[in-house]
Amino acid sequence: MKRSITAVLRGRRLVQALAGGLALLGVLSLLAFPRIEAFFLAQTTQRAAATLRLAVDGLSTTIDRYKPLPALIAERPLMTQALKDPDNQGVLPFLNEQLRQTAFRIQASDVYLMDISGLTIAASSYRKELSFVGRNFGFRPYFQQAVEGGIGQFFALGTTSGERGYFIAAPVLDDARIIGVVAVKFTVDAFEEAWRSGPDEIIVTDLNGVVFMSSREDWQFRSLAPLTPEARTRIRTTRQYPLEAVQPLDTRDAAGAETTGLLTIAGTGGATTYAMQSERIQEAGWTVSILSPTAPAFRQALMVMAGLWGVVLLAGLVTANVHQRRARTEERLAAQAAAQEMAEVRVAERTAELNAANDQLRREVEERRLTERQLRKTQADLVQAAKLAALGQMSAALSHEINQPLAAVKSYADNTLAFLDRGRTDEARENVGRISEMADRMASISKYLRNFARRPQDKLGPTPVLSVIDDAVALMSSRLRAEGARIDFDRPATELWVTGGSVRLQQVIVNLIANALDAMTGQEAPVIRIAAECDGDRLCLTVADTGPGLDEATMAQVFDPFFSTKGPHGGLGLGLSISYNIVRDFGGRLSVRNAEGGGAIFTLDLARCDPATRDAAARMVAE
Ligand code: ADP
Repeated sequence: MKRSITAVLRGRRLVQALAGGLALLGVLSLLAFPRIEAFFLAQTTQRAAATLRLAVDGLSTTIDRYKPLPALIAERPLMTQALKDPDNQGVLPFLNEQLRQTAFRIQASDVYLMDISGLTIAASSYRKELSFVGRNFGFRPYFQQAVEGGIGQFFALGTTSGERGYFIAAPVLDDARIIGVVAVKFTVDAFEEAWRSGPDEIIVTDLNGVVFMSSREDWQFRSLAPLTPEARTRIRTTRQYPLEAVQPLDTRDAAGAETTGLLTIAGTGGATTYAMQSERIQEAGWTVSILSPTAPAFRQALMVMAGLWGVVLLAGLVTANVHQRRARTEERLAAQAAAQEMAEVRVAERTAELNAANDQLRREVEERRLTERQLRKTQADLVQAAKLAALGQMSAALSHEINQPLAAVKSYADNTLAFLDRGRTDEARENVGRISEMADRMASISKYLRNFARRPQDKLGPTPVLSVIDDAVALMSSRLRAEGARIDFDRPATELWVTGGSVRLQQVIVNLIANALDAMTGQEAPVIRIAAECDGDRLCLTVADTGPGLDEATMAQVFDPFFSTKGPHGGLGLGLSISYNIVRDFGGRLSVRNAEGGGAIFTLDLARCDPATRDAAARMVAE
């Protein structure tokens, strides 16, 4: 959340910075554009000035080149001769041809000779359809200037040829008398042709302000300003131009057009603004002007501006991109750091939890161990207490159990004495035998009681089960024989070892065999089935008989001390109770169930022992 807010703020700042930058750029552009345009315009006018210089030079040089020619031609004797004798048909053809060749040589469009009235008597164009011969040019200013002894110069549209041209004229003298005029005309088309190749327009205006030469044909004989009445009169009288053609150009902002300024000229294709520069050719009274369109400078300025914008925008985009990337990298790093931090915190929390859980477990284990130890002690104490209580409880029974044989012993002893006194030794022997029996019974009670009261302090160790069973069966062999019973032991091939003690285990098995024999009393060939079966680290030892089994009440109390169904002369009711305790001391369990086909099955569940400790155990066999 915090991260995204930072990102949004950063993004907003970036957008603001970009917007600010763009606004600043816009203002700067508005301020800078006119300067950039002026710069390009200055370049344009500089280039145009050079072109103008060339144009002026070209025109001046041409005029200078042609200017002395009429005078030189007029000096030829043939001129004077022809003028003096105009009817001499022998001279004129020759003169005409001479003038044609001269015109060709000096690259003039026309060379011609006029008499004092202005009538052309010989001309280089004598062969042409529109020949000058016979035409009178007395109205032309150049003629008038030459007739007066000067050098006539004039630009006009040819009245005969219809070609524009520059006329230069000089008088033909006969001694000091002017008798005629020689004129040379050269055309200006070649100049205009050359001017058209450039990007600018070049015009030449005369003193009346009429454009008589131009790189644009449609501007010919147009004027930059409306003609004054005097100018109109001049043009009409000299027939310089067709007056109806002289229309003012549609110009605007002509202010400053004299030297360098901006001039807009409207035409059929729309208005075009030009930067205008002019130069005068003093001698001819011409003004040569160059008009450079301002649009390219404007376009160049626009392009520069666009380029600048492009560069700035690109730089902005690159900056924004870099900024964004950096921001993203920072965010990613921050996220990674946060994730790592979180992971570390989680690990720390988890470790702390685990440690706490471990501590708790350790405490619990410790408590449990303590409790277990206490429980064991309590149990042992309880068992002991129970045994003592049981001893107390059974003292009456004991006194009965012991007093009875004692009384019997007393009476048998007294009788024995009487029999002995009377010499009845057989009866006396019989009585002594009974006394011995009574003593045995009392001894067995005492033995059981000792076992019962003993605390389980004997050490546990590896105990060979099969050997113990063999010994127990051997102990019981006389009774088994007497009752015609047999042991059916499915004996495994190898010894089986359990945790316990040989003597005590033997005591348990003897007890179980004895109980089984008791249960099968009256049966013809009773069989006790013993089986040993391993299940992992446990050994299951069963002793099964074919007696009546145990009813529900017996099943519930069978392991209680002094519980017996065998009557006062039968059992003490301690055998199973002691056996149960012994097996429990071994870490095992003694249980009973009825077999499906009848009879009881006693099961000893014992812990198997590691065979590696057999040797150590061998010493305990003799326990
Ligand atoms: P006792 O043999 O002195 O009676 P025990 O503690 O050995 O004392 O046996 C308790 C009682 O359990 C017996 O009196 C008998 O009722 C019952 N019992 C023991 N073993 C068997 C058996 N194999 N079949 C039937 N009942 C049995």
